[in-house]
Amino acid sequence: MHNVTLNNGVQMPILGFGVYQIPDGETQAAVESALATGYRHLDTAASYGNEEAVGAAIKASGIAREDLFVTTKLWIQHAPTGSVEEDTRRSFDNSLNRLGLDYLDLYLIHQPLGDYYGEWRALQKLNKAGLARAIGVSNFHPDRLVDLIDHNEIVPAVNQIETHPFHQRAADQALMIERGVQIESWGPFAEGKNGLFTNPLLGAIGAAHGKSVAQVVLRWLTQRGVVVIPKSVKAERMAQNMDVFDFTLTEEQMATIATLDAGTSQFFDHRDPAMVSWLGGRRYN
Ligand code: NAP
Repeated sequence: MHNVTLNNGVQMPILGFGVYQIPDGETQAAVESALATGYRHLDTAASYGNEEAVGAAIKASGIAREDLFVTTKLWIQHAPTGSVEEDTRRSFDNSLNRLGLDYLDLYLIHQPLGDYYGEWRALQKLNKAGLARAIGVSNFHPDRLVDLIDHNEIVPAVNQIETHPFHQRAADQALMIERGVQIESWGPFAEGKNGLFTNPLLGAIGAAHGKSVAQVVLRWLTQRGVVVIPKSVKAERMAQNMDVFDFTLTEEQMATIATLDAGTSQFFDHRDPAMVSWLGGRRYN
Protein backbone atom coordinates (compact mmCIF):
# COMPACT_ATOMS: atom_id res chain seq x y z
CA MET A 1 0.00 0.00 0.00
CA HIS A 2 1.17 3.51 -0.82
CA ASN A 3 1.66 5.80 2.18
CA VAL A 4 1.72 9.53 2.76
CA THR A 5 3.96 10.97 5.46
CA LEU A 6 2.11 13.21 7.91
CA ASN A 7 3.64 16.39 9.37
CA ASN A 8 4.88 14.48 12.44
CA GLY A 9 6.48 11.68 10.41
CA VAL A 10 3.64 9.16 10.88
CA GLN A 11 2.98 7.04 7.79
CA MET A 12 -0.66 6.91 6.66
CA PRO A 13 -1.94 4.58 3.89
CA ILE A 14 -3.28 6.77 1.07
CA LEU A 15 -6.23 4.42 0.62
CA GLY A 16 -8.48 3.09 3.37
CA PHE A 17 -11.98 1.84 4.08
CA GLY A 18 -14.81 4.07 5.40
CA VAL A 19 -17.71 2.68 7.41
CA TYR A 20 -20.19 5.57 7.53
CA GLN A 21 -23.82 4.44 7.11
CA ILE A 22 -22.97 0.75 7.40
CA PRO A 23 -25.56 -0.44 9.96
CA ASP A 24 -23.99 -1.60 13.20
CA GLY A 25 -25.22 -5.16 12.62
CA GLU A 26 -23.48 -5.36 9.22
CA THR A 27 -20.27 -3.53 10.06
CA GLN A 28 -18.28 -6.42 11.54
CA ALA A 29 -18.79 -8.58 8.45
CA ALA A 30 -18.03 -5.65 6.10
CA VAL A 31 -14.82 -4.74 7.91
CA GLU A 32 -13.74 -8.38 8.13
CA SER A 33 -14.29 -8.60 4.37
CA ALA A 34 -12.33 -5.35 3.79
CA LEU A 35 -9.43 -6.58 5.91
CA ALA A 36 -9.44 -9.91 4.04
CA THR A 37 -9.36 -7.93 0.77
CA GLY A 38 -6.22 -6.17 1.96
CA TYR A 39 -7.38 -2.87 3.48
CA ARG A 40 -5.24 -1.88 6.46
CA HIS A 41 -6.63 1.61 7.05
CA LEU A 42 -10.08 1.99 8.63
CA ASP A 43 -12.12 5.17 9.14
CA THR A 44 -14.96 5.34 11.66
CA ALA A 45 -16.42 7.89 14.10
CA ALA A 46 -18.20 7.96 17.45
CA SER A 47 -21.25 9.29 15.61
CA TYR A 48 -21.40 6.31 13.21
CA GLY A 49 -22.47 4.03 16.08
CA ASN A 50 -20.35 1.15 14.81
CA GLU A 51 -16.98 1.45 16.59
CA GLU A 52 -17.61 -1.76 18.57
CA ALA A 53 -18.27 -3.70 15.38
CA VAL A 54 -15.09 -2.28 13.79
CA GLY A 55 -13.17 -3.37 16.89
CA ALA A 56 -14.68 -6.85 16.76
CA ALA A 57 -13.61 -7.22 13.13
CA ILE A 58 -10.07 -6.07 13.96
CA LYS A 59 -9.90 -8.61 16.78
CA ALA A 60 -11.30 -11.43 14.63
CA SER A 61 -8.84 -10.67 11.82
CA GLY A 62 -5.79 -11.47 13.94
CA ILE A 63 -3.87 -8.75 12.06
CA ALA A 64 -1.07 -7.25 14.15
CA ARG A 65 -2.05 -3.88 15.59
CA GLU A 66 1.02 -2.16 14.16
CA ASP A 67 -0.02 -3.23 10.66
CA LEU A 68 -3.29 -1.29 10.92
CA PHE A 69 -4.07 2.43 10.69
CA VAL A 70 -7.25 3.23 12.62
CA THR A 71 -9.02 6.59 12.62
CA THR A 72 -12.01 7.64 14.67
CA LYS A 73 -13.60 11.02 15.32
CA LEU A 74 -14.68 13.06 18.31
CA TRP A 75 -18.24 14.36 18.14
CA ILE A 76 -19.05 17.93 19.27
CA GLN A 77 -18.69 18.10 23.06
CA HIS A 78 -21.50 19.58 25.08
CA ALA A 79 -20.02 20.90 28.32
CA PRO A 80 -21.37 24.38 28.96
CA THR A 81 -20.63 24.22 32.69
CA GLY A 82 -18.06 21.43 32.79
CA SER A 83 -14.61 20.98 31.32
CA VAL A 84 -14.55 20.34 27.61
CA GLU A 85 -11.02 18.97 27.97
CA GLU A 86 -12.16 16.37 30.54
CA ASP A 87 -15.20 15.48 28.44
CA THR A 88 -13.03 15.08 25.35
CA ARG A 89 -10.74 12.72 27.22
CA ARG A 90 -13.79 10.71 28.35
CA SER A 91 -15.09 10.52 24.78
CA PHE A 92 -11.67 9.39 23.56
CA ASP A 93 -11.57 6.63 26.22
CA ASN A 94 -15.11 5.55 25.23
CA SER A 95 -14.10 5.28 21.56
CA LEU A 96 -10.92 3.39 22.42
CA ASN A 97 -12.87 0.96 24.63
CA ARG A 98 -15.51 0.38 21.97
CA LEU A 99 -12.76 -0.29 19.41
CA GLY A 100 -10.90 -2.57 21.86
CA LEU A 101 -7.65 -0.71 21.18
CA ASP A 102 -5.07 0.93 23.43
CA TYR A 103 -4.10 3.70 20.99
CA LEU A 104 -5.38 5.33 17.81
CA ASP A 105 -3.41 6.14 14.69
CA LEU A 106 -5.48 9.24 13.98
CA TYR A 107 -8.06 11.08 16.09
CA LEU A 108 -10.08 13.81 14.38
CA ILE A 109 -12.32 16.61 15.61
CA HIS A 110 -15.38 15.71 13.51
CA GLN A 111 -16.91 19.19 13.11
CA PRO A 112 -15.63 22.79 13.36
CA LEU A 113 -18.40 23.52 15.86
CA GLY A 114 -18.71 24.10 19.61
CA ASP A 115 -15.60 24.59 21.75
CA TYR A 116 -13.20 22.95 19.36
CA TYR A 117 -10.28 24.93 20.79
CA GLY A 118 -10.83 23.18 24.13
CA GLU A 119 -11.17 19.88 22.29
CA TRP A 120 -7.93 20.56 20.42
CA ARG A 121 -6.04 21.20 23.69
CA ALA A 122 -7.24 17.78 24.88
CA LEU A 123 -6.19 16.16 21.59
CA GLN A 124 -2.73 17.73 21.90
CA LYS A 125 -2.37 16.00 25.30
CA LEU A 126 -3.51 12.67 23.83
CA ASN A 127 -0.95 13.05 21.07
CA LYS A 128 1.88 13.88 23.48
CA ALA A 129 0.91 10.90 25.65
CA GLY A 130 1.19 8.61 22.61
CA LEU A 131 -2.49 7.65 22.78
CA ALA A 132 -3.21 9.19 19.36
CA ARG A 133 -0.20 8.91 17.04
CA ALA A 134 -1.61 11.75 14.95
CA ILE A 135 -4.41 14.27 15.54
CA GLY A 136 -6.39 16.25 13.03
CA VAL A 137 -9.69 17.82 12.08
CA SER A 138 -12.57 17.31 9.68
CA ASN A 139 -14.87 19.65 7.78
CA PHE A 140 -12.69 22.70 8.52
CA HIS A 141 -12.89 25.48 5.93
CA PRO A 142 -9.58 27.28 5.29
CA ASP A 143 -10.31 30.23 7.61
CA ARG A 144 -11.12 27.98 10.59
CA LEU A 145 -8.11 25.76 9.85
CA VAL A 146 -5.66 28.67 9.73
CA ASP A 147 -7.08 30.18 12.92
CA LEU A 148 -6.70 26.85 14.76
CA ILE A 149 -3.14 26.48 13.51
CA ASP A 150 -2.15 30.03 14.41
CA HIS A 151 -3.41 29.79 18.01
CA ASN A 152 -2.22 26.33 19.00
CA GLU A 153 0.94 24.35 19.43
CA ILE A 154 0.35 21.28 17.24
CA VAL A 155 -0.59 21.70 13.58
CA PRO A 156 -3.37 19.26 12.61
CA ALA A 157 -1.87 16.36 10.67
CA VAL A 158 -5.00 15.88 8.55
CA ASN A 159 -8.15 17.73 7.48
CA GLN A 160 -10.81 15.29 6.24
CA ILE A 161 -13.20 17.17 3.96
CA GLU A 162 -15.77 16.42 1.28
CA THR A 163 -13.69 16.01 -1.90
CA HIS A 164 -14.85 14.43 -5.18
CA PRO A 165 -15.12 15.37 -8.88
CA PHE A 166 -17.99 17.82 -8.26
CA HIS A 167 -16.27 19.49 -5.27
CA GLN A 168 -12.56 19.29 -5.97
CA ARG A 169 -11.12 21.59 -3.23
CA ALA A 170 -7.98 22.58 -5.17
CA ALA A 171 -7.58 25.90 -3.31
CA ASP A 172 -8.21 24.20 0.05
CA GLN A 173 -5.58 21.61 -0.82
CA ALA A 174 -3.05 24.29 -1.83
CA LEU A 175 -3.51 26.02 1.53
CA MET A 176 -3.18 22.72 3.38
CA ILE A 177 0.06 21.92 1.55
CA GLU A 178 1.37 25.38 2.51
CA ARG A 179 0.42 24.73 6.17
CA GLY A 180 1.62 21.11 6.33
CA VAL A 181 -1.85 19.55 6.65
CA GLN A 182 -2.68 16.38 4.71
CA ILE A 183 -5.97 16.54 2.79
CA GLU A 184 -8.20 13.49 3.13
CA SER A 185 -11.36 13.05 1.03
CA TRP A 186 -14.64 11.98 2.49
CA GLY A 187 -17.35 10.94 0.04
CA PRO A 188 -14.90 10.29 -2.84
CA PHE A 189 -17.86 9.16 -4.97
CA ALA A 190 -20.19 11.87 -3.61
CA GLU A 191 -22.14 8.78 -2.48
CA GLY A 192 -23.15 8.43 -6.15
CA LYS A 193 -24.95 11.79 -6.21
CA ASN A 194 -25.24 13.85 -9.40
CA GLY A 195 -24.95 10.69 -11.51
CA LEU A 196 -21.29 10.20 -10.65
CA PHE A 197 -21.12 6.51 -11.54
CA THR A 198 -22.70 7.12 -14.97
CA ASN A 199 -20.85 10.35 -15.77
CA PRO A 200 -19.87 10.14 -19.49
CA LEU A 201 -16.52 11.97 -19.11
CA LEU A 202 -15.41 9.71 -16.28
CA GLY A 203 -16.77 6.68 -18.14
CA ALA A 204 -14.76 7.49 -21.27
CA ILE A 205 -11.56 7.93 -19.26
CA GLY A 206 -12.24 4.61 -17.52
CA ALA A 207 -12.81 2.87 -20.86
CA ALA A 208 -9.43 4.13 -22.09
CA HIS A 209 -7.72 2.38 -19.16
CA GLY A 210 -10.03 -0.64 -18.79
CA LYS A 211 -11.16 0.74 -15.41
CA SER A 212 -14.48 1.64 -13.79
CA VAL A 213 -15.64 5.18 -12.99
CA ALA A 214 -15.00 4.44 -9.29
CA GLN A 215 -11.42 3.46 -10.08
CA VAL A 216 -10.87 6.60 -12.19
CA VAL A 217 -12.10 8.78 -9.31
CA LEU A 218 -9.88 7.09 -6.73
CA ARG A 219 -6.87 7.27 -9.08
CA TRP A 220 -7.57 10.95 -9.78
CA LEU A 221 -7.68 11.71 -6.05
CA THR A 222 -4.61 9.68 -5.09
CA GLN A 223 -2.68 11.09 -8.06
CA ARG A 224 -3.41 14.53 -6.55
CA GLY A 225 -2.00 13.29 -3.22
CA VAL A 226 -5.44 13.10 -1.57
CA VAL A 227 -6.02 10.30 0.97
CA VAL A 228 -9.21 8.33 0.16
CA ILE A 229 -11.50 6.15 2.28
CA PRO A 230 -14.21 4.75 -0.07
CA LYS A 231 -17.06 2.80 1.50
CA SER A 232 -18.66 -0.34 0.08
CA VAL A 233 -20.42 -3.30 1.64
CA LYS A 234 -19.80 -5.42 -1.46
CA ALA A 235 -16.63 -7.55 -1.61
CA GLU A 236 -16.25 -7.16 -5.38
CA ARG A 237 -16.33 -3.36 -5.08
CA MET A 238 -13.95 -3.40 -2.11
CA ALA A 239 -11.43 -5.21 -4.31
CA GLN A 240 -12.11 -2.92 -7.29
CA ASN A 241 -11.63 0.19 -5.15
CA MET A 242 -8.19 -1.01 -4.01
CA ASP A 243 -7.03 -1.83 -7.53
CA VAL A 244 -6.18 1.71 -8.59
CA PHE A 245 -2.40 1.89 -8.62
CA ASP A 246 -1.59 0.07 -11.87
CA PHE A 247 -2.51 2.94 -14.20
CA THR A 248 -1.82 6.66 -14.44
CA LEU A 249 -4.16 9.38 -15.68
CA THR A 250 -2.63 11.64 -18.30
CA GLU A 251 -2.39 15.40 -17.79
CA GLU A 252 -5.16 15.79 -20.35
CA GLN A 253 -7.40 13.37 -18.44
CA MET A 254 -6.67 15.20 -15.17
CA ALA A 255 -7.61 18.46 -16.93
CA THR A 256 -10.84 16.90 -18.24
CA ILE A 257 -11.83 15.83 -14.73
CA ALA A 258 -11.06 19.35 -13.48
CA THR A 259 -13.91 20.63 -15.69
CA LEU A 260 -16.44 18.71 -13.56
CA ASP A 261 -15.81 20.89 -10.51
CA ALA A 262 -18.98 22.71 -9.41
CA GLY A 263 -17.19 24.13 -6.39
CA THR A 264 -20.02 23.39 -3.96
CA SER A 265 -21.07 20.62 -1.62
CA GLN A 266 -23.33 17.80 -2.80
CA PHE A 267 -24.49 17.37 0.80
CA PHE A 268 -24.78 20.47 2.99
CA ASP A 269 -23.00 23.64 3.95
CA HIS A 270 -21.15 23.70 7.27
CA ARG A 271 -21.70 27.47 7.28
CA ASP A 272 -25.51 27.24 7.05
CA PRO A 273 -26.88 28.38 10.46
CA ALA A 274 -29.73 25.83 10.37
CA MET A 275 -27.23 23.02 9.73
CA VAL A 276 -24.83 24.31 12.38
CA SER A 277 -27.66 24.25 14.90
CA TRP A 278 -28.86 20.81 13.80
CA LEU A 279 -25.36 19.30 14.06
CA GLY A 280 -24.77 20.99 17.42
CA GLY A 281 -27.91 19.38 18.77
CA ARG A 282 -26.74 15.85 18.01
CA ARG A 283 -25.35 13.87 20.97
CA TYR A 284 -22.97 10.98 20.43
CA ASN A 285 -19.89 9.96 22.50
P1 NAP B 1 -18.66 7.26 -0.84
O1 NAP B 1 -17.50 6.41 -0.45
O2 NAP B 1 -18.47 8.45 -1.69
O3 NAP B 1 -19.77 6.40 -1.56
C1 NAP B 1 -20.27 5.20 -1.04
C2 NAP B 1 -21.35 4.71 -2.02
O4 NAP B 1 -20.73 4.29 -3.24
C3 NAP B 1 -22.10 3.53 -1.48
O5 NAP B 1 -23.45 3.68 -1.89
C4 NAP B 1 -21.47 2.33 -2.21
O6 NAP B 1 -22.44 1.32 -2.36
C5 NAP B 1 -21.08 2.95 -3.53
N1 NAP B 1 -19.87 2.31 -4.13
C6 NAP B 1 -18.70 2.06 -3.52
N2 NAP B 1 -17.81 1.54 -4.38
C7 NAP B 1 -18.44 1.46 -5.58
C8 NAP B 1 -18.03 1.00 -6.85
N3 NAP B 1 -16.79 0.54 -7.08
N4 NAP B 1 -18.94 1.05 -7.88
C9 NAP B 1 -20.20 1.54 -7.66
N5 NAP B 1 -20.64 1.97 -6.46
C10 NAP B 1 -19.76 1.95 -5.43
O7 NAP B 1 -19.45 7.75 0.49
P2 NAP B 1 -19.17 7.87 2.04
O8 NAP B 1 -19.31 6.53 2.68
O9 NAP B 1 -20.05 8.95 2.53
O10 NAP B 1 -17.67 8.37 2.17
C11 NAP B 1 -16.58 7.51 2.44
C12 NAP B 1 -16.15 7.58 3.89
O11 NAP B 1 -15.81 8.92 4.27
C13 NAP B 1 -17.26 7.23 4.90
O12 NAP B 1 -17.55 5.86 4.94
C14 NAP B 1 -16.70 7.79 6.17
O13 NAP B 1 -15.71 6.94 6.71
C15 NAP B 1 -16.09 9.10 5.66
N6 NAP B 1 -17.02 10.25 5.82
C16 NAP B 1 -16.66 11.27 6.67
C17 NAP B 1 -17.47 12.37 6.84
C18 NAP B 1 -17.04 13.47 7.75
O14 NAP B 1 -17.86 14.36 8.07
N7 NAP B 1 -15.80 13.48 8.21
C19 NAP B 1 -18.68 12.48 6.13
C20 NAP B 1 -19.04 11.44 5.26
C21 NAP B 1 -18.20 10.34 5.11
P3 NAP B 1 -22.25 -0.17 -1.76
O15 NAP B 1 -21.84 -0.04 -0.30
O16 NAP B 1 -23.59 -0.79 -1.95
O17 NAP B 1 -21.17 -0.81 -2.59
